[in-house]
Amino acid sequence: MSQWHTSPYIVDKPNPRERRTMLRSHMGVDFTKLDNYIKHGGFEAWKKALELGPEKVHEMVRAVNLRGRGGAGFPAGVKWGFLPKNDRDRVLVINTDEGEPGTFKDRYIVEDDPFLLFEGCLISAYTFGAHLCYNYLRGEFWKATAVCDSAVEQMYEAGLLGKNIGGTGFDLDITNHRGAGAYICGEETALIESLEGKPGQPRLKPPFPANVGAFGLPTIVNNTETIASVPFVVNLGVEAFNALGTPGNEATGAKPQGGSKLIGISGHVKNPGVYEAELGITLRECIYDLAGGILDDRECLAVIPGGASCPLILPEDFDVPMDFDSPQSVGSMFGTAGIMVMHDGTDILEVMNRIAVFFQHESCGQCTPCRQGTGWMLAIVRKMVDGTATEQQVDVLYDAATQIEGNTICAFGDAAAWPIKSFVEKFGDRIKAEVQKRAEARSA
Ligand code: SF4
Repeated sequence: MSQWHTSPYIVDKPNPRERRTMLRSHMGVDFTKLDNYIKHGGFEAWKKALELGPEKVHEMVRAVNLRGRGGAGFPAGVKWGFLPKNDRDRVLVINTDEGEPGTFKDRYIVEDDPFLLFEGCLISAYTFGAHLCYNYLRGEFWKATAVCDSAVEQMYEAGLLGKNIGGTGFDLDITNHRGAGAYICGEETALIESLEGKPGQPRLKPPFPANVGAFGLPTIVNNTETIASVPFVVNLGVEAFNALGTPGNEATGAKPQGGSKLIGISGHVKNPGVYEAELGITLRECIYDLAGGILDDRECLAVIPGGASCPLILPEDFDVPMDFDSPQSVGSMFGTAGIMVMHDGTDILEVMNRIAVFFQHESCGQCTPCRQGTGWMLAIVRKMVDGTATEQQVDVLYDAATQIEGNTICAFGDAAAWPIKSFVEKFGDRIKAEVQKRAEARSA
């Protein structure tokens, strides 16, 4: 690991399946220094964007079908198109509230290569006419905030931010804003509430942020990696960017999914870390090629493929391509591409307990099914772990999760229910046997 890695999760080992477009810590260059960033081609995309003009850049972002990299996968170009066609001030908000268990890829960008993000901010804000940008960082990202503050300061000093940037007539101010450590602030309207100084609780939609967002202004909220990808779209061009990902399919109407993706792999693998690969790499390649296979050469039990809220994928489905749509074909989701691997010695009840604790703790409490349901799920799972539950309570747990799903203000409720349901669906018999075993051991 070179001295420039500020994140402990970066792995140097090159692998034929890896790409090094965005992830370039192997170069041994300190990209938190503006001079170094510029020396290695930084802000060339910004210059190109100025030559192309906003409409053309927007067209390119649409043409590559740049899917949001924060979990939902909504196309950024389409989102930008929702802004009202008028002269109102508008705001760009970067969602760096990376708090999903198993997800640690944005952290690499904001700690190690912050100008990638800020060049993306410059191009994106220019494209849809925003003059104000907030980078909302996760509360625990002390180091990243210091790096981003320094990067923004360097850009102001170099005339890359502020009024009339480089004589172009375009103005942009960027403010880094650290949250207070609530996972729910990764939901875009909760993030906006928090940014405005209020408790971070999701808003009812509509209105959507593109019409009424931060401080009442039309607002685009995009994930860190999404915006950090924009300079590559401009630099590479539509064809080359799309060639990196999954091709479209005219017969099914599936659009291409361009570009590469940062993938965080953690858990029972030999080389956990942040990797970059083209969209469409299989889950098996991620686990066995990128991350070196299962720890101690054990068998793999299951994988949570995209952050804690995603349903499990079992080994027989490991050939599924990791792109925004394919994991749905095996009952799961791409999510944030934060892959958590569990080997065959994993204590399933303990994993369920960890997940239930997390979601119960992070519920904002605004709606009853989520506030009460996450509490019920945790209470039952704790009993299962303690050996005080009955087999029937595994079914009650499943019912409680089902009651949450689809009945809440924001997607958090679903996110809390899905992994628990998935464990029961995939390992119900095994869980019941373990519950029975623990109950017998307790009463013996
Ligand atoms: Fe809050 Fe949960 Fe309701 Fe979302 S689903 S608004 S997190 S209580």
